[in-house]
Amino acid sequence: MATAAMQTDEEFIATNQSAFMVGATGETGKHILEELTNRKLFQTITLIGRREVTYEGEKYQSIVQKVVDFDNLDSHADVFKNHDVGFICLGARAGNTGVTSNLPALRKVDHDYVIKSAELAKAGGCRHLVLLSAMKASKDASHPYSKIKGEVEEEAKAFGFDRLSIFQPAVIMVDRKDETRVGEWFLKKALAPVAFFFPTALTVPIATLARAMVNTALTPKDQDVEVLDNKAIHRMGGKK
Ligand code: NDP
Repeated sequence: MATAAMQTDEEFIATNQSAFMVGATGETGKHILEELTNRKLFQTITLIGRREVTYEGEKYQSIVQKVVDFDNLDSHADVFKNHDVGFICLGARAGNTGVTSNLPALRKVDHDYVIKSAELAKAGGCRHLVLLSAMKASKDASHPYSKIKGEVEEEAKAFGFDRLSIFQPAVIMVDRKDETRVGEWFLKKALAPVAFFFPTALTVPIATLARAMVNTALTPKDQDVEVLDNKAIHRMGGKK
């Protein structure tokens, strides 16, 4: 990916843009929201989710919350209208037994809800979609998780957004407050030395990922569809 100069926060703020987020209550979503609100980048940030959350503090004044029924998203088409930029970081909880333990549930959230959100966003006028996918995503993958992610990427491309930024992080390093994913917890512990000696190889700190997803909105478009792998995420997330 080209490393075109990024706008300053002040230059971007002057463009008066609005954003939506789907998945703002998740770990990645929370970090993106903090990045967005700390930097006051958007006039409004519409959080589209299945539940409302209490946000206290002046920096959250730009937030509008919309509670939707994800099984009936077409009836909420209005909430997807008139956003310049959209961040989608939705994902089903993988649980303790691995991501393939409940494939229909995984597919429903990670594919169906994501694709319907993208479709409505495009119809509503969103120009730039920032989509959280995963490393090794491929429609031809043998692993169902990677396959679902790959199918989502292909279908999102077909919507023809003016700009689509696909993020393919490796393992996201985060301390979850309500840690219930034993497999993920062990994986992160095992990968901690790798993260130390080879920071961009198999892991990415969640703050770096969130900053990268936000920074991409401030970076001039290089191509209609851009795919950021783990190393590119580290580079983009390192920019201030
Ligand atoms: P979280 O599990 O922390 O958050 C998931 C989000 O999706 C939450 O906002 C949650 O809402 C929402 N969600 C989950 N199920 C439903 C549902 N049935 N209906 C409506 N909303 C739902 O996700 P992460 O931030 O850890 O991961 C985000 C994405 O990144 C996922 O797609 C994941 O596959 C991908 N990814 C993760 C990696 C990792 O190492 N963890 C690595 C690479 C990619 P609520 O708060 O209401 O539950």
